[in-house]
Amino acid sequence: MSKPDPQHVVVVGAGIVGVSAAIWLLRKGVDVTIVDAQAPGSEKAASFGNAGILAACSVAPVTAPGMVRKSPKMLLDPNFPLFLRWSYLPRLAPWLLKYLSNANDNDTRRIARGIAPITYDSMEQHRALTKGTAAAQWLTSSDYSFVYPNRAAFEADQYTWMLRKSAGFEPELIEGSAVREFEPNLSPDLKLLAVMRDHGYIRDPGSYIAALARAAEDLGAKFLKADVSDFTFEDGRVSAVVTRDETLSCSHVILAAGVWSGALAKKLGLSVPLETERGYHIEFSAPVNGPRTPLMLTTGKFVATPMENGLRCAGIVEFGGLQAGSSKAPLALLRRKVKESFPAFSFEGEKPWLGHRPAPSDSLPLIGEINNTGIIAGFGHHHIGLTAGPKTGRILAGIVTGQWENIDLAAYDPMRFQTHFQNRIPARRDNHQAKKGA
Ligand SMILES: Cc1cc2nc3c(=O)[nH]c(=O)nc-3n(C[C@H](O)[C@H](O)[C@H](O)COP(=O)(O)OP(=O)(O)OC[C@H]3O[C@@H](n4cnc5c(N)ncnc54)[C@H](O)[C@@H]3O)c2cc1C
Repeated sequence: MSKPDPQHVVVVGAGIVGVSAAIWLLRKGVDVTIVDAQAPGSEKAASFGNAGILAACSVAPVTAPGMVRKSPKMLLDPNFPLFLRWSYLPRLAPWLLKYLSNANDNDTRRIARGIAPITYDSMEQHRALTKGTAAAQWLTSSDYSFVYPNRAAFEADQYTWMLRKSAGFEPELIEGSAVREFEPNLSPDLKLLAVMRDHGYIRDPGSYIAALARAAEDLGAKFLKADVSDFTFEDGRVSAVVTRDETLSCSHVILAAGVWSGALAKKLGLSVPLETERGYHIEFSAPVNGPRTPLMLTTGKFVATPMENGLRCAGIVEFGGLQAGSSKAPLALLRRKVKESFPAFSFEGEKPWLGHRPAPSDSLPLIGEINNTGIIAGFGHHHIGLTAGPKTGRILAGIVTGQWENIDLAAYDPMRFQTHFQNRIPARRDNHQAKKGA
């Protein structure tokens, strides 16, 4: 096989992580091909259907201390936004045990310390990414407020606020009649807002990703619509990306295929405990009497974001794998909670969506080279991928070019789940390729 072009990088996946990495690589003068099975910004990607929040303060993982004790009750409570498709439990169990093993104080603090460096400057990173591109039009500065029924409920959430405070974020509290001045359409039962200033959101995440992909093409990226199925190697380093119709030579690969990255990593012998945390949104068109600014309704654990095409209400955690279609109960709960939170809310139509948060069992993304193969992991961003995608992309570009961001990447080491097998991965692939060629 001929030698790969020097510094030709194939980015697998055109979600927020992939397009961000592509743009930063192109700005460094590197040749880039983006490969995705779908058009950028289309509905399959988590980057399409998220709540749009650039949640710089969102450092707390789902696995809070006490979760092991509380989760059976949460699952059985029809008003709690945690769902499980029971038939999936046997497949989920190994991941779930690892996931829940992090639901303690030490690990929660460790995870929060790991998340903060890639979220805290999200607005700045999105501004830098979109500078001079049409994608900038979708980036909107705003407050981001957490809505509580009362001060007691806010105080019951102090552990999470302690984590946010440790990351440098403190809310401004609004109570009593001032709540209605700030958000006139909230239910009178909701009496406290914890307002995070200097946050922001994306007014149409699908159009944002599509505009970023176009910006990458303007900078010289090639786009290939194809499903990546494998990689080839020479001397232990990646030499090509394999799709059904083509073999694409390259010097490096950025593996940014969201939750689907797990299956591709397995081709390298790397077994990542990665699950889909299924999430839902409903976009209500022509909304009347909804929120003015993005809100996190803690009573229903959903985010309500006023977007370009309507009010998007997003949230829910459901375990049930990648294959099953959407479930009725989570969407019914979301509708109920929207009505409870905004009693006078009305709309013309609604569009529900199901998507897949890429969830490693320790809630930290994988960012880094996989065992000196030239394949660089950039996936597993859980609930914070839109927030942290541009910074992750910048770091990934720095890893390829050797121009480092001043950031310690130890927490994101893609090899952290299997130190025992580390040295065998490229060797095994070489053997495999050699046998195929023989
Ligand atoms: C309901 C919900 C609400 C959310 N709200 C927020 C929020 O407000 N703020 C926030 O920061 N985050 C939020 N998130 C999380 C965020 O959306 C994700 O973390 C992020 O979009 C992940 O981006 P990604 O680029 O890693 O993956 P994705 O966006 O999933 O993109 C992966 C891409 O890879 C492609 N692909 C997969 N397999 C292959 C293959 N074999 N070959 C070629 N291409 C392939 C797919 O087609 C897809 O385009 C939310 C998620 C959900 C589900």
